[in-house]
Amino acid sequence: MRRVGFYYFCPMHVPTSHIITAPVHLDLRREDLTHAEYGGNKLRKLKYNLLKAKESGYKTILTFGGAWSNHIYATAAACKEHGFKSIGVIRGEEPKVYSDTLSFARMCGMEFHFVSRQEYREKHEDYFKAWLRDQHGSVYLIPEGGSNYLGVQGCVEILNAEDKSAYSHVACACGTGATAAGLLISAGPQQKILAFSALKDGGFLRDEIRKFVYYALGDEEVADELMAQLEVITDYDEGGYAKCSVRELEYLRSFKAQHDIELDGIYTGKMMLGLDDMISKKTFAEGSRILAIHSGGLQGNVGIEQRLGHAIFE
Ligand SMILES: *Cc1c(COP(=O)(O)O)cnc(C)c1O
Repeated sequence: MRRVGFYYFCPMHVPTSHIITAPVHLDLRREDLTHAEYGGNKLRKLKYNLLKAKESGYKTILTFGGAWSNHIYATAAACKEHGFKSIGVIRGEEPKVYSDTLSFARMCGMEFHFVSRQEYREKHEDYFKAWLRDQHGSVYLIPEGGSNYLGVQGCVEILNAEDKSAYSHVACACGTGATAAGLLISAGPQQKILAFSALKDGGFLRDEIRKFVYYALGDEEVADELMAQLEVITDYDEGGYAKCSVRELEYLRSFKAQHDIELDGIYTGKMMLGLDDMISKKTFAEGSRILAIHSGGLQGNVGIEQRLGHAIFE
């Protein structure tokens, strides 16, 4: 895999915010700052997909997501920036009023194809993809969340060379598991990867992450070995995907008050809340050095605020 694209995607050095020193050392990698509009892991996952699409001569990217999807948001903006046409296959009937995410994507030039929730569930089936290609012609297809092996390849670049020895643990929020898989592949031999499930009953994510590792490396034995470095944590889903508990809301506010950093309520808030709780319960040995990944997703907070009827912060 070529390491450097022919256009600029992510800065080589991503800033790190120091969070606490004791009882353990905790840093936050500011992946959310890798792009002014759509920084975060979705940009990482798009990188090699867009490079491949370009190399293969595709003009149009087609992908999938819900009305508040960070991936739809990032894909629409990245396609505009890099000269692709974009089509979003959106879960659910066309709403009378578009969500802020869809309005933004529309402004970036994304064309929508709304499908029922039932149809959406079949998005990975070959006949469904063939049907989409029939309607939209020759398109480069990226799965939901940007999570294919090229997406994993992009997430392999989140950790830099120093990170691999500087930290005993690396934590990320987990939806499909592609980001955790990328971190696991790039982890130092002594490092533990902590994947905090943003989904209810996220125990299945272990198998999903293993699948992604295997797709990316093509080696069963190495994939199995790497799994020993992975811990999937399911105690902090806060009600499940796209839900945000009262304690999480309070956590988002106090984190911002203390560190002047906004987290998103769907992914990174759950991870930091979980880490904080584990630290206070002395889950980590003294001297542990933890790097948490701020994977972005702040645009999604608008959806939570609309549901709550008030702002999350202030
Ligand atoms: C999509 C997303 C995740 C989950 O990433 P996966 O690779 O699907 O596990 C985590 N954090 C944020 C902010 C996201 O948008």
